[in-house]
Amino acid sequence: MFSILRRRPRLKTIAIIIPVYNEEENLGFLHERLSKVFSSAPEYGFQIILVDDHSTDRTPEIMASLAAKDSRVSWLRLSRNSGSHTACAAGLDHCDADAAIIMAADLQDPPELVSSLLARYVAGAQIVWAVRESREGESWFTRAASEMFNWLMGRLTDLKMPPRGADVFLADQCVITAFRRMPERSLSLFSVMAWLGFRQESISYVKQARNAGRSKWTIRRKILLAIDSFVGFSYLPIRFMSVVGFLAALLGICWALYIMVMRLLGITQAVGYASIMITILILGGLQMLMLGVLGEYLWRTLEEARRRPRYFIEKSSRS
Ligand code: UDP
Ligand code: MG
Repeated sequence: MFSILRRRPRLKTIAIIIPVYNEEENLGFLHERLSKVFSSAPEYGFQIILVDDHSTDRTPEIMASLAAKDSRVSWLRLSRNSGSHTACAAGLDHCDADAAIIMAADLQDPPELVSSLLARYVAGAQIVWAVRESREGESWFTRAASEMFNWLMGRLTDLKMPPRGADVFLADQCVITAFRRMPERSLSLFSVMAWLGFRQESISYVKQARNAGRSKWTIRRKILLAIDSFVGFSYLPIRFMSVVGFLAALLGICWALYIMVMRLLGITQAVGYASIMITILILGGLQMLMLGVLGEYLWRTLEEARRRPRYFIEKSSRS
């Protein structure tokens, strides 16, 4: 009798948030693989939140048909292509689950990772990173650039980023609530998550080759993300400017003293045109570079001061 009245423990809900940009070939496979993972973990209530980053292919129709046949699937469509980090932020803003897992739509990150991430979550971790052990199907240039970026981030900022970089992570409800209070526009999602703190752990996995289609992260976008990440979490470039300026001035003073002494001793005449040109060019170049670095910070300050919303929702499965 009492056992009937006793309330059954509430299922923990887990949202899988997936940024999607022109992934018409991948969504069906992704849904299939995720469904298999969900049936192997019946102790959780799963949701899939697809965030369409303004795709131009058949992605919206496929998302709608998945949502029509599976009540666990919901979707949002952003009003413009805003980049996957902003798309993930939109997903996190619209998620009311106990924990969320962010993963890409191209099956580079195997959906089976969900079980290992959940095991760490149950053991008490609040952020669980899936760190790339190795990467299949990517050029040596992509791998080298990514490793260089992660190394520099580790050196130049005080963030505890996963050393080989991560593309998938789990965040619990406290972390999601904290993230919603971080309003920055120049968003580097992974850096912000690492900055938040909480109990962070990691597991490792092998990043697969893309299931179908091409990467949407162009070199230009990657460079912009790298600059956002450095400028967002390090003042080192500005400090570096002061040090370079100081060293250049010191060098100039030493050079002037040297010439003065040589002249007084009558050893040599003033130095010629070539050395003046070299000095002007080097110092001019350095000044431009330094103005550029200041500009990066100034531009981002302006972006934040405008307080434009990060994204707008064009349509969603709930509207
Ligand atoms: N993506 C997005 N908006 C973009 C570019 C990419 O939402 O402007 C999504 C994309 O559909 C995928 C994920 O972000 O689900 C990772 O992108 P991609 O696989 O192209 O990047 P890579 O794995 O090459 O870094
Ligand atoms: Mg990918």
